[in-house]
Amino acid sequence: MLTAEQLTGQKDSHVLLVEELGIQLYPLAAQAFLALKAMAADDGIELEAVSAFRTFDTQLKIWNAKYQGDRPLYDADGIELEHSVLNRDELVTAILRWSALPGASRHHWGTDLDVIDREAVPEGYRVRLVNEEFSSDGVFWKLGEWLDRRLPETDFYRPYMGFSDGVQCEPWHLSFAPVSVQALQSMTVKILEEALADSDVLGLEIIFAQLPEIFSQYVMNVSDPP
Ligand SMILES: [Zn+2]
Repeated sequence: MLTAEQLTGQKDSHVLLVEELGIQLYPLAAQAFLALKAMAADDGIELEAVSAFRTFDTQLKIWNAKYQGDRPLYDADGIELEHSVLNRDELVTAILRWSALPGASRHHWGTDLDVIDREAVPEGYRVRLVNEEFSSDGVFWKLGEWLDRRLPETDFYRPYMGFSDGVQCEPWHLSFAPVSVQALQSMTVKILEEALADSDVLGLEIIFAQLPEIFSQYVMNVSDPP
């Protein structure tokens, strides 16, 4: 069972550093990911986690950079939005489409990771983690196809596959179900509210005005494991 501070990334006592991968994960998820990596290698995929556990502060930096226009914002189709024409409500919605609110990221749990096929990345290519890369002529098409086929045999699943007005489809985002299902059940609006209360997250006034809605639309609104 994760505590409120672990669920919201304010503590990292539930994760350990996987030295050979340079990422932090919940111990059981780390073990399972190493097995998944070996399974992928057998099928010619070099599975690499480009992001795993993230702290509240890391997510805060991402959030605030987007809020201030220091990082690009995208619409539902992945087309870049002009920061200066958005009002503050639109700004918050635009960020939420692609980034979690600090405290509400599944990456806080140590059970979720973003993966690529390192082998498929051409020399000099910058990975963006966009849906285009997983389309039939994208660099990670083979990875996506492999995940479709083999993931159901494992304890991992993809919570952001069926878009329904929440977070955009993220075929690269894997979740270790034996721990993450419970973590999600443990999350509440109150836990999130307490994590945000004394923080430097920008746009807090707008966020607090619609926190229950944000919670159900972007946190709870995910696909269930098969
Ligand atoms: Zn992710």
